[in-house]
Amino acid sequence: MTAVWQEQVSLKPYNTFGIDVKARYFTQAHDDDEVREALAQAHQRGLPVQVIGGGSNLLLTRDIDALVLHMASRGRRVLSDDGERVVVEAQAGEPWHDFVQWSLAQGFCGLENLSLIPGTVGAAPMQNVGAYGVEIKDVFAGLTALDRETGELRDFTLEECAFGYRDSVFKRNPGRWLILQVRFALSHELQAHLDYGPVRQRLAEQGVEQPTAQAISDAICSIRREKLPDPAELGNAGSFFKNPVVSAELVERIRSQYPGVVAYPQADGQVKLAAGWLIEQAGWKGYREGDAGVHRLQSLVLVNYGQASGAQLHALAQRIQADILERFGVELEMEPNLY
Ligand code: FAD
Ligand code: NAP
Repeated sequence: MTAVWQEQVSLKPYNTFGIDVKARYFTQAHDDDEVREALAQAHQRGLPVQVIGGGSNLLLTRDIDALVLHMASRGRRVLSDDGERVVVEAQAGEPWHDFVQWSLAQGFCGLENLSLIPGTVGAAPMQNVGAYGVEIKDVFAGLTALDRETGELRDFTLEECAFGYRDSVFKRNPGRWLILQVRFALSHELQAHLDYGPVRQRLAEQGVEQPTAQAISDAICSIRREKLPDPAELGNAGSFFKNPVVSAELVERIRSQYPGVVAYPQADGQVKLAAGWLIEQAGWKGYREGDAGVHRLQSLVLVNYGQASGAQLHALAQRIQADILERFGVELEMEPNLY
């Protein structure tokens, strides 16, 4: 069946910042055949294709003069289970949090710390999504992607994805591979990661002594709901900047002026700084300029109070970057994908 293409479609409902730009053409793909068909038709018409999932890591600064292909494939299944390790596969358009909750309901452990991250399974490898001390690379078992240059399917191993901090081979080669299915190696036995942020404390407050994976997920959901704005109520794309990893010398220079600097030493001798802390110290927390602003509780999150344009949010982000560079000598890198 030929998928319907709509013309001049507002992308406001398709990005969590709620930015109102238009796609010249828009269609949805519910399975691999529809993906191939959309790409072939766009090729015939000489149109570029922009793939989107949940739109939760996008900053749209202009109308998209392309076919916007929204990944809407659904499905998840168990590929193998030896009683200890279980390999599951999900389609790219599957909502990430639903997939996490499904895996927990089956008794599979490993994704609990990644609860309540918006977006789709297919986009998760793009920036190796991570939260509370776990990244998908820790439970990754492979993925299948369509090479848009050759039209061939390719299976990627963990090594081939070259995952880094909020980074992957897919992020470094934008538009080259379209991810169709992702596989995860989960476990019947819980290996709890509780040392990050307030997770252990929240479980203790709830009186949970021997947490299950579901209890960890519930605790993380409750922390996230308190701290992060819900895009359904206030437009945002989560953390707007990556936490910068800098030299130990630079951190010492910053510490001499700011003894409270929040810094996490890395295995390679470098140090990760909490970008939110730098932005807060610089006085941006809660700042608002028209409808573009910095969240009042979490200064790493830029927000759209309603009618902000992508260009306004981008301009605010650039002012923050310039200020942080001047004050601390630290370059902040944007996390969302800019279009
Ligand atoms: P989109 O925003 O639709 O797309 C992102 C990029 O991936 C685009 O370049 C797009 O072209 C590409 N893409 C999408 N689907 C595919 C595909 N199938 N194949 C190839 N390319 C594709 N991120 C974290 O890492 N950790 C967090 O804890 C976290 N918390 C968040 C909290 C909030 C409130 C919000 C709004 C965002 C948060 N994010 C977090 C960011 C975001 O949710 C993730 O990066 C998520 O994986 C993006 O998925 P998406 O489907 O919305 O991708
Ligand atoms: P937080 O707990 O207030 O911590 C602030 C920062 O310090 C985080 O960015 C985190 O880095 C770092 N951190 C905290 N404990 C750490 C530890 N034990 N070791 C090393 N680094 C540590 O952060 P938050 O904003 O509430 O977010 C909680 C988690 O969800 C974090 O992992 C964060 O990355 C993730 N999150 C991500 C997004 C996104 O859009 N990317 C949005 C919301 C939340 P890391 O960010 O490197 O983990």
